[in-house]
Amino acid sequence: MISLYLGAIEAGGTKFVCAVGGENGEVYERVTFATKNPSETMEEVVQFFKSHKLKAIGIGSFGPVDLDRTSPTYGYITSTPKLNWSNFPFVEEIKKHFNVPIGFDTDVNAAALGELLWGAAKGETGCIYMTVGTGIGVGAVIEGELLHGLSHPEMGHILIRRHPDDPFAGSCPFHQDCLEGLASGPAIEKRWGKKGAELADRPEVWELEAFYLAQAVANYILILSPRKVILGGGVMKQPQLLPLVRQKVVHLLNGYVQHEAILHRIDEYIVSPGLGDNAGICGALALAKRAMEQ
Ligand code: ADP
Ligand code: ZN
Repeated sequence: MISLYLGAIEAGGTKFVCAVGGENGEVYERVTFATKNPSETMEEVVQFFKSHKLKAIGIGSFGPVDLDRTSPTYGYITSTPKLNWSNFPFVEEIKKHFNVPIGFDTDVNAAALGELLWGAAKGETGCIYMTVGTGIGVGAVIEGELLHGLSHPEMGHILIRRHPDDPFAGSCPFHQDCLEGLASGPAIEKRWGKKGAELADRPEVWELEAFYLAQAVANYILILSPRKVILGGGVMKQPQLLPLVRQKVVHLLNGYVQHEAILHRIDEYIVSPGLGDNAGICGALALAKRAMEQ
């Protein structure tokens, strides 16, 4: 029997991860390199994949990206402030070198799909995946479909209620005190004057962080009715944070969403990524698998 190899690209603003893997989410080989300008970076990507026989390639990319298949700029990274990457025709560039089906989506949608196929949401029909890191992003699979739209959802930038005792102005260059501006890793660092990892013994830091994240998660639950909520990213490495978020979500919803997942099984409903730090790259593999099947 011939093995099927799938190619996966997790494209981030600071690093690229490329992998070759299989249809069950297994990763056979992977490389990581710093994101440079597009031509240098693509050269490294092509070199890595050239020695493999690929059936499909999946790309989970930083954004914003154009996901509209009828658009002339489908498969582009569009308006990013990241130097030289704006209007980059990602899918076209990969297609030049590999004549295989290509799956393309946001990094967080990819991670949501990976978690659904092989991770914490396995067996469900959908989930949301939220990363709380340098930025805040959320991907969603709703009843089997990756959530797109006019562009794609940007759930990290929603507006939430400020804590009355929080004097921090917020760090989002677009909205100042949106969710990302108040609760991303850099926002924590600016507010408290130290990196999140060095604030482990300051309970007030994590109370406030959970205050913001729980509002966001409660909103996502009310709007999307996700089957499972997965919280990843560097900031979620604080082990005290997830239980606080769960507790505050239940409190905020206050019994309104009458489902046992929320009323009695919150520990199984709001969870850490089953794929750990591999959610992104396995997600890209999942996009490749989907592209091959379609
Ligand atoms: P990125 O979002 O760039 O892909 P990460 O998900 O690793 O990368 O997020 C990086 C952010 O997470 C940084 O702001 C960093 O300070 C924060 N972070 C990393 N580890 C921890 C930790 N153990 N506790 C709290 N914050 C952390
Ligand atoms: Zn914002």
